[in-house]
Amino acid sequence: MQKLGKNVNGYRGETIDIRAVLEDCVTAARANAWAIEQVQVAPGLSLLAFTRTASRANHRAARIYISTGIHGDEPGGPLAARLLLQENQWSASLDLWLCPCLNPTGFALNRRENAEGIDLNRQYLQPRAAETVAHIGWLQRQPSFDLCLCLHEDWESHGFYLYELNPDNQPSVAQAIVEGVAKVCPIDRSEIIEDRAAQNGSIRPSVDPRSRPEWPEAFFLLTHKTRLSYTIEAPSDFPLSTRVAALVAGARSAIEAIGSG
Ligand SMILES: [Zn+2]
Repeated sequence: MQKLGKNVNGYRGETIDIRAVLEDCVTAARANAWAIEQVQVAPGLSLLAFTRTASRANHRAARIYISTGIHGDEPGGPLAARLLLQENQWSASLDLWLCPCLNPTGFALNRRENAEGIDLNRQYLQPRAAETVAHIGWLQRQPSFDLCLCLHEDWESHGFYLYELNPDNQPSVAQAIVEGVAKVCPIDRSEIIEDRAAQNGSIRPSVDPRSRPEWPEAFFLLTHKTRLSYTIEAPSDFPLSTRVAALVAGARSAIEAIGSG
């Protein structure tokens, strides 16, 4: 599979009607017994948050959090959230949290930042964006998670890759994710990705969150909600259907690996 060569100085591929995609998400969530929350951001602006508790309560359910759509020029993420909700293939012994779009105003403009020009994925230490304040407020009302997945796309990359934050050296699911995605999408197996050392499509930054002032969502999650986080990145110079398949396969592979671990 070849890159399309469309992305010159930014994402130049397909865009989505985010309102319609999120309406589909709500329809699917409602049909499959998710609780649906509209987290108020500002007048006329809210974030959707879906939760579903395990139907099999014989042992403590694994708690899995998935978010996407924090960058408005990465349409694969909300489309993957929609497909995950529509396909509804979850183990009955999981508690699930899903935020399908953290940056609704960015998608309307097909740009990374929100309508005010703020990169929301740099806001999680000292938030001033209303979206991030609202999202953090919601997260603080939730329990801790066993696994967090943040779904992204990268317009420059040559294939799928991921970031793993796993400070306690828990059993890694990085390899399971990469193997699952490799069936549907090329993997970037470069030794350097985004200026960081990479191995087999996986970057394991040894970053101390306290040393970086501009926190991505994953740093907040790692500091407050989880000890195992994956940011998965689909290559957005490939067909949109391939990227959606990659993100869905990555999420499913991670969840299966946690469930069987
Ligand atoms: Zn992104």
